[in-house]
Amino acid sequence: MEFSLSYPYNFELERIVEHIKENRARRVGIQLPEGVKSMAIELADAIAARTGAEVIISGNSCYGACDIDDKLLKLVDILFHFGHTRAEFELPGRPGREVCFIELRSEVEVKPAVNKAIEEIRGEQVCVVTTVQHVHRLKEAMAVLAQEGKEGVTGKSPRLRYEGQVLGCDFSAAKMPCDEILFIGSGSFHPAGIALYTGMRVVAADPFTTQLRVFYGEEERKRRYIAIARAWDASTFGIILGLKSGQCNPGEARRLKEEAIRRGLNAYLIAMDEITEDGLLGYKVDAFVNTACPRLVEDFLHLQAQHRGDKQLRMLSAREFEVVIGRRKWEELYP
Ligand code: SF4
Repeated sequence: MEFSLSYPYNFELERIVEHIKENRARRVGIQLPEGVKSMAIELADAIAARTGAEVIISGNSCYGACDIDDKLLKLVDILFHFGHTRAEFELPGRPGREVCFIELRSEVEVKPAVNKAIEEIRGEQVCVVTTVQHVHRLKEAMAVLAQEGKEGVTGKSPRLRYEGQVLGCDFSAAKMPCDEILFIGSGSFHPAGIALYTGMRVVAADPFTTQLRVFYGEEERKRRYIAIARAWDASTFGIILGLKSGQCNPGEARRLKEEAIRRGLNAYLIAMDEITEDGLLGYKVDAFVNTACPRLVEDFLHLQAQHRGDKQLRMLSAREFEVVIGRRKWEELYP
């Protein structure tokens, strides 16, 4: 099967082939985020045909730069992880086993989406941020704003690779003095998080569809405040210890458990790979505290809204739990 280069992301096939040949790798893994898993078969065929290497596709979830398939990594010489950049997570390391990040840069122009976003942008100073897929187009976006008399600014996270780049759990680039924020990219996960963590109005412009959505800091925060208030009377907590290597925080999980017990509450450590509704429903606890991906609590809020029967699945982040037990003030939730 011919590998399609017309797909809107650059899979860097040439670089992958070179890297495999240079390292004389005989067995490689590929790990793709959900949105591009449909390309896995063509990609595996193309790599195998060009290098002769055996290709193993990761069938596990792939939510972020933190989410490396470390079990597959043990079976291969190189694991190609697509769609993210290396960030400061604890990644599994073994001599001779390497994780190679392929960023999946978009080949789509951002100008039409930014032009459209101008209609929604009210302020004069606009902080522009994006995911790694569009980060090479940030200057074009700034130029469009400048043509319209707006000043574009951006920041940089110390743990991310590019200026203006955000991650689902790192919005440092958006924390700049500005009137509002323009996010360039798809979906609601990043712009909702930016609004939540900055408290600002965020205009999200999707370069693939040129559709706009607006997210409001107050609304996103209100949802979390309600979730915290609902866990106020809980006395038994399940402290979730994520076992994925980039999300595993045993020190924090133990600390939270001890803090809860010191305050006369009951707390249990529950270790899991995939944190799902079905995986949690069986436990007799009043609320869960998630020490893995800090954004997962927002997904569980949607589940709670549509929840069946009388069983309420309440989940807090570590910081939110600290508010419940009085260790952190409300106003310190989003520094
Ligand atoms: S911890 Fe969550 S938000 Fe952060 S990179 Fe991993 S999956 Fe994304």
